[in-house]
Amino acid sequence: MSKTILVINCGSSSIKYALVSERREDRIYGLAENLGSEHARIKGITVGGEALELNIPHADHQQALEVLLGRLANYHPEAIGHRVVHGGTLTKAELLTPEIIQQIKAATPLAPLHNPAHLVGIEATMRLFPDLPQVAVFDTAFHQTMPAHAYRYAVPKFLYTEHNVRRYGFHGTSHAYVSERGSELAGSFKQGGWLTAHLGNGSSTCAIWNGHSVDTSMGMTPLEGVVMGTRSGDVDPSLHSFIANNLGWDIYKIDRMLNSQSGLLGLSELSNDMRTLIEASEAGNEDATLAIEVFCYRLAKSLAGLSCGLASINGLIFTGGIGENSAYIREKTVSYLPHFGFNLDKNGNNTLKRGTEGRIDASTGPQIWVIPTDEEGRIAQETASVVEQAQQVQHTKMA
Ligand code: ADP
Repeated sequence: MSKTILVINCGSSSIKYALVSERREDRIYGLAENLGSEHARIKGITVGGEALELNIPHADHQQALEVLLGRLANYHPEAIGHRVVHGGTLTKAELLTPEIIQQIKAATPLAPLHNPAHLVGIEATMRLFPDLPQVAVFDTAFHQTMPAHAYRYAVPKFLYTEHNVRRYGFHGTSHAYVSERGSELAGSFKQGGWLTAHLGNGSSTCAIWNGHSVDTSMGMTPLEGVVMGTRSGDVDPSLHSFIANNLGWDIYKIDRMLNSQSGLLGLSELSNDMRTLIEASEAGNEDATLAIEVFCYRLAKSLAGLSCGLASINGLIFTGGIGENSAYIREKTVSYLPHFGFNLDKNGNNTLKRGTEGRIDASTGPQIWVIPTDEEGRIAQETASVVEQAQQVQHTKMA
């Protein structure tokens, strides 16, 4: 492998890792999971494409990283890029310094499940590799170009000025990557407007104008917006008080319900997994059929709403596990946007192979693309560019 960047995404009991080469096509990747339990293990793919499975009973984040990094040491990563969900108002990827780490800590109330886990990973890699440059790449940063009329909530101003209550948006690396790739493929590099739909377990939409996010469906937290696997997306904010008053639930139980028991799972009472729901719907399950219908209708409604941020539309891009793989969901969603002039090439849509990018419109009206997302590749690219800039500044100072 040529020059490599190690990309790390630490969750509360897992670490996703990828060693990405400069040319981005060679990858070693995998997942350390069940950390802290007797079932802790590493599952991955080696550079030769072989499967790797390693039990590391009771290993914590630092121990798992030691094992992982020991195995990857031969490839001499030049830098480590950490995915960090919430960067508060940080607008770009940053070299990790005590000040930036402090800002990640300060954004913890906005991402209480994610940021503490990222910090555990950051502290572990800093202890293990004190000499390696480390960079934080934030899910929120791409959306910091949203205008105030898109990011402010219509609630009392002090909640914004004193408590940072505003819309931030997430999945930034994915929306940034697919929109940039889309405009590259369309030959309109970073010019004009794109709508992007990242549809995985978590889903969000974004409007991008001349390469900058101008609006997105997720808000202060990833709960706002479209219907997701287990998250409700938008509901009437009075739902909380209705449930509290009528069912006697406390705020934590309501929050858990909206985050973990709602969305496709809540509607279908069957599964959060779109593949399972499509199969069940084909077999006649009406709840699964309705869940899919609500998902596609609300998705189309979100895309139509976001289009208000764009002066014109080059096209629509689907990505994420559902967006990349389900011709059925793409067709149904586009059918709910009849007045945009989209003209889906049904044959092209149906024959697009898994994991491949391709254009699926019939060349009249706005374009429609399927583009597999590459969050690790994007994080590696941003990490390399932050490190390069820091090195240039260093050279200039020394010259
Ligand atoms: P995550 O957000 O966890 O990274 P993914 O982007 O992998 O998740 O997306 C997972 C979702 O993609 C699941 O709902 C899964 O059912 C769906 N999916 C994967 N393949 C297909 C398919 N062929 N048809 C429909 N949905 C699919």
